Amino acid sequence: MDPSAERYDVVIAGGGSAGLALACALSDALGSGRIAVVDPRPLSPAAEPDESRAFALSAAAKRMLAVLGVWPEIAAHAEPVTAVDITDSSLEDAFRPVLLSCDNTVDGEEPATYIVEQGRLYQGLLVAAAHRAGVALLGGRRAVGFKADEHGVRIDIAGPASLGCVHAALLVAADGRASPLRAAAGIGVVRWSYPQTGIVTTVRLEEPHRGRATQHFLPAGPFAILPLTGARACITWTEAAARAREILALDDAGFRAELEKRFGYRLGALSLAGPRASWHLDMYLARALVAPRFALAGDAAHGVHPIAGQGLNLGLRDVAALTEVVADAARLGLDVGSLAVLERYERWRRLDSALSAATFDALNRLFSNDWTLLRSARDFGLGLVERMPGLKRFFVAEAAGLTGDVPRLLRGEPA
Ligand SMILES: Cc1cc2nc3c(=O)[nH]c(=O)nc-3n(C[C@H](O)[C@H](O)[C@H](O)COP(=O)(O)OP(=O)(O)OC[C@H]3O[C@@H](n4cnc5c(N)ncnc54)[C@H](O)[C@@H]3O)c2cc1C
Repeated sequence: MDPSAERYDVVIAGGGSAGLALACALSDALGSGRIAVVDPRPLSPAAEPDESRAFALSAAAKRMLAVLGVWPEIAAHAEPVTAVDITDSSLEDAFRPVLLSCDNTVDGEEPATYIVEQGRLYQGLLVAAAHRAGVALLGGRRAVGFKADEHGVRIDIAGPASLGCVHAALLVAADGRASPLRAAAGIGVVRWSYPQTGIVTTVRLEEPHRGRATQHFLPAGPFAILPLTGARACITWTEAAARAREILALDDAGFRAELEKRFGYRLGALSLAGPRASWHLDMYLARALVAPRFALAGDAAHGVHPIAGQGLNLGLRDVAALTEVVADAARLGLDVGSLAVLERYERWRRLDSALSAATFDALNRLFSNDWTLLRSARDFGLGLVERMPGLKRFFVAEAAGLTGDVPRLLRGEPA
């Protein structure tokens, strides 16, 4: 270990939404602890976010963001989802009848989901992290490797403002789907690619959406209409990869025509209100979540199909569980980087992530096809659920992130 290197309690590699939320949560839970976030991006609240994606944030995630003081910053930009309508039809069908409609509130009160633009969430988290005295934001640098022993972990940092290396008791990799640190730790992934692309854009609507979200199941994949503030909607559209390339290459008029074909005209005419972005879709799970003095969180740990809009919600579950495990260990005077402590985190999060990934994968396979017999069977199933209010309430509670062993932060309590 280098005696002149900066020392922190926890170093987080990756200042995306998961990494920044973790920095805020750990800083609050550890009191006088020192947390560093390292990211090649500038990590400056003044920098403009460069993305137009919007997230369906669960009620549990909202409760955690409220405890962290982030929610007041973004509440005015978060659209509560009042109801969810589900359809299942062919692309050519002129009419997309609603087969299942759910009141999207928990106990008839709290919205189960909010739609928040990625840039708003990111800025809110960045400002909250920057305001915490115990958090050092080390932007413009990347973590390139690490070495752990019984005394701590040395993290090698590269970049124009390189610090050489820093020391910590624990290194958390929240460095996204490619996770260079997951590779440096020698942790492999189970991965498969979908022959689908995720297209995202924002539209302005002629008629008010009244907070209703719609999921049109179409043969190429789900087409989600997520209500945004100000009579706008974020479209998260799964399309066959080759067709997606053609659609993305269209001019605005052609792109809007493809949108309208899927969207329908229930909310009047559409106009484009944001850029188009696209993602190659895959599913993966890290083979392990922890190693001595090392833990994975967020997309570094798992990637799921966006069919249910749960990727970041899973990452925020990691954040809440890891914070609770680390805080409990610190209160007992235990070494927060020890494998025994981190294994509690792994036990807590591994099964939930794997089950979620498998469920979203199965839903995508079940719905993303044009087989008449299968459509009849699944539509019969949707019709049955439509007539079972108890089951609908269970699905809504699942989407709200309030089922199972929910960490304290996601229940709206301090860690
Ligand atoms: C089309 C689509 C729609 C989606 N919709 C939803 C939704 O509605 N709801 C939802 O919950 N989720 C959704 N998701 C999933 C969600 O986008 C991701 O789960 C989430 O953005 C991951 O956040 P993260 O912080 O884990 O990773 P990222 O946002 O990828 O952040 C990783 C960070 O690590 C940094 N980094 C990389 N390498 C290094 C390094 N060597 N050292 C330091 N830092 C490094 C990067 O610069 C980046 O800032 C969707 C995904 C897609 C593709």
